Amino acid sequence: MSFLTQRLNFLLCCAAICALTLPILPVAAQEATTPTNHGINVANMDRSQKPGDNWYLYCNGDWIKRTEIPPDRPGLGVFTQLLDVTDKRTASLIEEAAKSNSGGSGQRKIADLYNSYMDEAAIEAKGQAPLQPHLKAIADIKTKKELAYALGQTLRADVDALNNTNFHTPHLFGMWVAPGFNDSEHYAAYLIQGGVQLPDREYYTSDNEHMKQLRSKYQAHVSAMLKLTGFTDTDARAERIVALEHAIAEKHTTLAENDDIQKANNTWKQADFSSKAPGLEWAEYFRGAGLSQVASFIVWQPAAFAGESALVESTPLETWKDWLAYHTIEEYAGYLPKALADERYAFFGATLSGTPQQRPRWQRSVAVVNRYLGDDVGQIYAQRYFPPEAKAEAQAMVANIIAAFRKRIDALSWMDPKTKAEAQAKLTTLYVGIGYPETWIDYSAYEVKADDIFGNIWRGNLFQYTRQVARLGKPTDRHEWSMDPQTVNAVNLPLQNALNFPAAILQPPFFDPKAPAAANYGAIGSVIGHEISHTFDTEGSAFDSKGQVRNWWTPSDLEHFEAAAAKLAAQYDSYTPFPDLHLNGKQTLAENIADVAGIAASFDGYKASLAGKTAPTQDGFTGEQQFFIAFGQDYASKVRDAALRQQVMVDSHSPGQWRADTVRNIDAWYSAFEVQPGQTLYLAPADRVRIW
Ligand SMILES: [Zn+2]
Repeated sequence: MSFLTQRLNFLLCCAAICALTLPILPVAAQEATTPTNHGINVANMDRSQKPGDNWYLYCNGDWIKRTEIPPDRPGLGVFTQLLDVTDKRTASLIEEAAKSNSGGSGQRKIADLYNSYMDEAAIEAKGQAPLQPHLKAIADIKTKKELAYALGQTLRADVDALNNTNFHTPHLFGMWVAPGFNDSEHYAAYLIQGGVQLPDREYYTSDNEHMKQLRSKYQAHVSAMLKLTGFTDTDARAERIVALEHAIAEKHTTLAENDDIQKANNTWKQADFSSKAPGLEWAEYFRGAGLSQVASFIVWQPAAFAGESALVESTPLETWKDWLAYHTIEEYAGYLPKALADERYAFFGATLSGTPQQRPRWQRSVAVVNRYLGDDVGQIYAQRYFPPEAKAEAQAMVANIIAAFRKRIDALSWMDPKTKAEAQAKLTTLYVGIGYPETWIDYSAYEVKADDIFGNIWRGNLFQYTRQVARLGKPTDRHEWSMDPQTVNAVNLPLQNALNFPAAILQPPFFDPKAPAAANYGAIGSVIGHEISHTFDTEGSAFDSKGQVRNWWTPSDLEHFEAAAAKLAAQYDSYTPFPDLHLNGKQTLAENIADVAGIAASFDGYKASLAGKTAPTQDGFTGEQQFFIAFGQDYASKVRDAALRQQVMVDSHSPGQWRADTVRNIDAWYSAFEVQPGQTLYLAPADRVRIW
């Protein structure tokens, strides 16, 4: 479970990567910003607000007042600002790589990939030629058997159930390779439902007026994409494609249900598929996917597999061929001429996330390089921007916060001693990666050509998939990372019992070696605590100290935990960003628990770091006040309505404002700011949710 949803990060930074002519920034000239102050940012606060009434504006109100969302953004926040800084640094590394003659083949590859996306003239000159052979192959499909093979060929390693949580793939199904649920010493293949373009089943099934309008715009977009690629009768085809996606979505499991490990732990032997999910010719599907030799899979949503497979049989071949053609066009439109790329952005960027304009092309190109050569770039990034002192200091904070968790667990009156012992064992075997991984991905088998962006992306997806398939059955590397050093995020990897804190999040304003401890513990300490908490939450409690699926909680432990969790879910259900849409307390539960537990443990770690001394004040704020304000400032954000709606519907994290309000569950916040009964955020002590 990550600190932020990667897919939404993806939407924020590079949704619908496609062409639009924009001036290219002289990136090398733009070095990262250095903070003008160290610690909390008083200029961002609105001190006319009362902390107990509007905590979020108290911490961030003046920043919100003076900030305008640029036309190429669905929203802005601390994370996106840090992402900009990191992208500029990364772009300048890429530029250096491009200029360097002495650079190794890794540097040449980085430069070629970057340039192949930047070269719009070459993309226009090629036209749709790179796409045509793929459309021709689909047009040539004559039977459901050939269809099954073709569907198998689309399988990619493009989902991630538990690390960088992403349950969405437009392909019929998606694969995630990770340590096995029932044998965490070896890698297994997890299969995940897929087949729809819109972000979630709700987009197809909801009666909400807003969703109905989106659906009709979507259908028009499908028709437009088909027309641009030479199809006839496109309105009728689009209608059938959207109807098929709607039928698929109805078979899908909801995001909230996807969190349940027990329901997801279904091992199917390859031979089981045709009896458990009849319809699709599975042997052909697996042959197309290159998986004929793989004996068994873990099927995350069995009902969806049965439902989707039956649809392959019951829906006419021609509709499936149109669906497949449209999905291929959509997936690669961003790397094709402007007309297609713009149409893609007009729907997925402008309409769906309400963002009128695309990110500058250089920034989208950085995103491409990060996605396909992330470790090559990350290796240079970490060397350049993550000094050993920063690593040592972050490690010391982690040690303090882990010690705080240990004390909290020991002090729990409701937890069985055996459960406590396993929880402590999990902390002992926890691997905490700081800054960058110990080993790097070898990209030598990935062929990159300076004049072929379409091929580079196609081969890049295939390289990632083939690399994952090759790992199946091999021993688990518990120290493996799932995020690049240049990612502004953090992650808990439950099957490895490991955490990753990439270099890019260990920067101001989250982490600043020159800032007071209060600010560092409030800002990054609560992120560290958040990730540690996932080790024990609704999902973490399903895995033992070896990452194996095993229920190590007694029924009464679980009962107590679930009662506290239900209270927190109700708290978040009561938040209403829009009159017709409230937060989904169950969908965001694991993340909300992690926020509550993270800030509580980090606060303890902070107090311990003072070793009895009084913290220095800053701008009149005590150490405790700085701690909470730094936490509240992590979540400064301004988001367009359409993007906020999308976040509420598909993200497992609550939007920033409500993450900041987590403080209302922490006793020390009340005393630090003299919050009184009757104030908007006030909770009576019995109503505050305490997890650990
Ligand atoms: Zn999380």
